[in-house]
Amino acid sequence: MKQIDINQLARENVRNLRPYSSARDEFQGAASLFLDANENPFESGYNRYPDPHQKALKQTIASIKGISADQLFLGNGSDEAIDLIIRTFCEPGRDAILIPQPTYGMYAVSAATNDVGILSVLLTNEFQLDTKAVLQAVTPFTRIIFLCSPNNPSGNLLHPEDIEHLLNGVNCLVVVDEAYIDFTDNPSWIRRLAEFNNLIVLQTLSKAWGLAGLRIGLCIAHPDIIALLNKIKPPYNINSFTQAEALRRLTGNKAEIAAQISTLRQERIRLSEALQKVSGINKVFPSDANFVLVRMANATAVYRKLIANGTVVRDRSGVVLCTDCLRISICTPAENQHLIDQLNAI
Ligand SMILES: *Cc1c(COP(=O)(O)O)cnc(C)c1O
Repeated sequence: MKQIDINQLARENVRNLRPYSSARDEFQGAASLFLDANENPFESGYNRYPDPHQKALKQTIASIKGISADQLFLGNGSDEAIDLIIRTFCEPGRDAILIPQPTYGMYAVSAATNDVGILSVLLTNEFQLDTKAVLQAVTPFTRIIFLCSPNNPSGNLLHPEDIEHLLNGVNCLVVVDEAYIDFTDNPSWIRRLAEFNNLIVLQTLSKAWGLAGLRIGLCIAHPDIIALLNKIKPPYNINSFTQAEALRRLTGNKAEIAAQISTLRQERIRLSEALQKVSGINKVFPSDANFVLVRMANATAVYRKLIANGTVVRDRSGVVLCTDCLRISICTPAENQHLIDQLNAI
C-alpha cells in the first residue's frame, strides 16, 4: 500500500497552467451547424477535427481492461505517453528518472530530450531487478522509475515481489511498461492500482493487437495522474482514422486475435527449441514476450549474413549485459522456419 501526493510531485508550471481549450471543448451538446473550428465544410471524410478526449475509444478500452475511463490516457504510441509522463513530473536540469539496464531505449531518449537526468542501475545476470541497488541509487530528485515487464530486450518478466518492494520503498512514481503483457500468463499490474497511487501501467495496441502502424499507447493510472497528462497533451493527439480503426479492431473478431497470440506463444516454444540446436548458439533466454534474446558466437557477423539473405533481426550485442546477443521477433510458423534454415546454413 502506498499513497503519495501526486500533485505535489508534478512540476509547478504544469500544476498551474491552464490547458488549451479547443473549439470542441467549449461546446458540448447537439448542433447541426459547426462554425467554431475553421474547418472546411465540404465533406471529405476527415474535414472535422477528431474527438480530443477519444470518448468512444476510451470507453471500449476501459471496459476491456476493467478500469474506468478516467484512469486511462491514450497517447500517439506509448512513446508519447512516456514523454508526457517525464514532462509532467521532471523539472529539466534538476530532476532525474531511474532505469534498470538493459531495457527499452525510449525512456532514456525522452529524458535526454527534456534535459532530465538518467540514473542507470544494472539488472542482474538473469535480467532481474537488484532492488537494493535501485533503492540506493534513488535521490530526492528521482521522480520516476521505469520498469519494463516483460523486459525488452531480454523477454523475461520482472519478479512481482521486487516491483512491489520498489513501489513501497520509494516516494516517486513507478512506471511498469507492459507492452508485452498479452503474451504472458501473468496478471497485469492494473489490478494493483488501488493499492499504489504512484503506479503507472503502460500498455500498447502495437504488439498483440497488431496495430503498430496506427500508434496507440495506453497509460493507466490514478485519475489525478491522468488529469495532469491531459492538461499538457496536444489537443488532437489521436487522429480520427486511428480512433475509428482502433475501435473497429477492439470490437471486432476477438477470437482471431486470441488465435494469433496463441500461435505466437506456441511458436515461441518451437523457435526457442530449434534455436538451441543451432550450432554457435550458446543461450536462448527464456521469454514471456513475442521475441527471444539469443547469445551466440560472432553475433554481429551472423546479423550481417542474415541481412544479406534479406532477413533482419535486432543486433543487441552492443547493449550492456547483452554481449553477443541478437533479439529475434517471433513470426508466422513459415517465417520462423525460414529463419532457422538460414541460421543452420550460416
Ligand atoms: C514496442 C514497445 C512499446 C510500444 O511502443 P508504441 O509507441 O506504443 O508502439 C512500448 N514499450 C516497450 C518496452 C516496447 O518494446
